[in-house]
Amino acid sequence: MEKLRFSAIKNIVNNSITYEVDSSEKVTTIFNENVFTLKTARHYLSDEAYKSLQASSLTGKKIDRSMGGNIANGMKAWAEERGVTHFTHWFQPLTGLSAEKHDSFFTLKGDGTSIQEFEGAALIQQEPDASSFPSGGLRATFEARGYTAWDPSSPAFIMEIGRGKTLCIPTIFVSYTGESLDTKTPLLKAIVALDKAAVDVCQYFDKNISKVNATLGWEQEYFLVDAGLATARPDLLLTGRTLFGHAPAKGQQLEDHYFGAIPQRIYAFMRDFEQEAYKLGIPLRTRHNEVAPAQFECAPIYEEINLAVDHNTLLMDVMLRVAKRHNLQLLLHEKPFAGINGSGKHNNWSMSTDTGVNLLAPGKTPKTNLMFLTFFVNTIKAVHDYADLIRASIASESNDHRLGANEAPPAIISIFIGKYLTDVLNQIEQRVGGHFDETDEAILKMDIHKSIPELMLDNTDRNRTSPFAFTGNKFEFRAVGSSANCAAPMTVLNTIMAETLKSFKREVDGLIEKGEKKEVALMHIIQKYIVESKKILFEGDGYSKEWEKEAKKRGLANIKTTPLSLDAYQSDKTKKLFEDNSIYNHLELEARHEIMLESYIKKVQIEARVMGDLATTYIIPAALKYQNILLENIRGLKEIGLPESAFENQKSILEKINFHINGISKGINEMIESRKKINEINDSREKAIAYCDKIKNTFFDDIRHHADNLEILIDDNLWPLPKYRELLFLR
Ligand code: ADP
Ligand code: MG
Repeated sequence: MEKLRFSAIKNIVNNSITYEVDSSEKVTTIFNENVFTLKTARHYLSDEAYKSLQASSLTGKKIDRSMGGNIANGMKAWAEERGVTHFTHWFQPLTGLSAEKHDSFFTLKGDGTSIQEFEGAALIQQEPDASSFPSGGLRATFEARGYTAWDPSSPAFIMEIGRGKTLCIPTIFVSYTGESLDTKTPLLKAIVALDKAAVDVCQYFDKNISKVNATLGWEQEYFLVDAGLATARPDLLLTGRTLFGHAPAKGQQLEDHYFGAIPQRIYAFMRDFEQEAYKLGIPLRTRHNEVAPAQFECAPIYEEINLAVDHNTLLMDVMLRVAKRHNLQLLLHEKPFAGINGSGKHNNWSMSTDTGVNLLAPGKTPKTNLMFLTFFVNTIKAVHDYADLIRASIASESNDHRLGANEAPPAIISIFIGKYLTDVLNQIEQRVGGHFDETDEAILKMDIHKSIPELMLDNTDRNRTSPFAFTGNKFEFRAVGSSANCAAPMTVLNTIMAETLKSFKREVDGLIEKGEKKEVALMHIIQKYIVESKKILFEGDGYSKEWEKEAKKRGLANIKTTPLSLDAYQSDKTKKLFEDNSIYNHLELEARHEIMLESYIKKVQIEARVMGDLATTYIIPAALKYQNILLENIRGLKEIGLPESAFENQKSILEKINFHINGISKGINEMIESRKKINEINDSREKAIAYCDKIKNTFFDDIRHHADNLEILIDDNLWPLPKYRELLFLR
């Protein structure tokens, strides 16, 4: 039988037809077509029910139960008009993916007549069997009960899969005793905490502000490879990344991919998934090639954070599905290809008030300057005080491959703010004795707004190497991994910001009580925070070795691996932070820590197995075949009486092949032995550390090195795995 690799290549060569969708419709026509927006709800609900839904969707407050039936009926009517047959609660369990369990509207009455029904109770709450979702020990598996509850702040939507249509209700997922088992519940709590703390601080500046929304605009990077080729790479299918593969002669060194013309097949895919996204109300705005070959990016217009997170989760799903339609495999892994740039998901974050003010937009007047400085400096202080937690919030087995790999920010958390704002902070800090008064407006009169063009310049240059950069009117958290659910880092960011703002307010109020004028008190605490957190500010090259040294001198942590970085979730400081802000109790936190460690262990375990499998059943057999060809050739040359020198080259290749086969076998065998021992460890943390140090870091590179060398020694015709040049450049 022909190798999958070659039939896949043949298919690409023969199949010049691109799957095209009709995307001529205006975006505004289809935008939100499949979403039960408030505007849509207006047509389907009674006044009373509409008001109740409106109030809940704006405040996130629980829906009034008596209204449930009415709302469910309206939703059903809307959905049925669009051909929907089923509904599901749509939630995000701790697997990092989304989950659904579909139920039909169809049901039977007592006398056997069939009707279509959707009761209020089914809209508001369900009890999916929770036993197979990770719970970190929170829910013993025999106690399978957990329930999902409607999150009215994220609108219901219709998911179209082929011709099937399902009404999806965004929900939280909690255990029967109320502990969160998902990523949305803590995020919603953190949003509430930040809202409260930020509104309180806003009162210094504007009494009319009664709500602050955290905002998120994510930029999603991804790779696309031909699905046929991907099928011939079991490592890609099972682990999301290539465990083997020699660097191609041409990689990304010519830098000819970034912002280059989008290939037609990819373009068709993009238009197709964008169209689906628009129908779902995901406001996609940009699309372009990324730095690496076969790498791309999309980004929406920013939204309120809960909705933005849901939309990102939903979009990842849609993209995976639409890619299949185009015979493409979407890779969301942070590092699918060694030696080629990895993928991230930049999280652009800010806060906006119900009076329409972006709290991180530099002001033009002394008053707005002071408000900006307050929130700006509080963010810096929050990230400084909880840098370890920020690092932990983006930790994953796959993101470890990317962080610090000279293409992505290092594992050291630092903040870039640009030269102008650095100067502003320096000037505030250097007011010896802190002589601020209202008339002394030297600082507040500064046109901080002018820093924007300078920041924009930096944007394309130095700050790309920063994990957390101020980009003019928002912070951009760049260390988030491409496959991650944004909820975890956003929960942490919102919580630490809430906590910091609360302390800030306490301190400012303290000074005001002592008789200081409000503006002066604010400046004093801003100054104090600058002094306390300035060591986290860094404007230089985050990829450089010097920065590692400098950061160490400054006492900044540089935790390179997931198992160790997750310790931050277990510190007393973290427990207190989350409990004080009602985000997680210590049980929930422990459970999450456990789940993350388990996930890490399993991922390395799977990679180790796939590596052993591929090496033994793909790579070594191919090497042996080529060895035999060489042997036969040497034998033949000997037979006709040629001297040693005639087959010197063949012999030398033979020896090299032997060397690498032995290297692989030895590595695989030792790795298996090592795994057996590690599997006996009971403590998850210890086990995860062992998997990291004694499996991943000890064997993976070594085994791969031998295999990749075989790839460039062996007859191309015999090599079973699609090569990097094919995965990256054939489409
Ligand atoms: P780039 O980072 O490529 O220069 P932009 O700065 O235009 O691109 O935007 C990146 C993302 O940041 C977009 O999703 C955009 O909507 C988002 N963004 C812009 N302003 C805010 C804000 N105030 N809060 C959150 N996200 C924002
Ligand atoms: Mg950006």
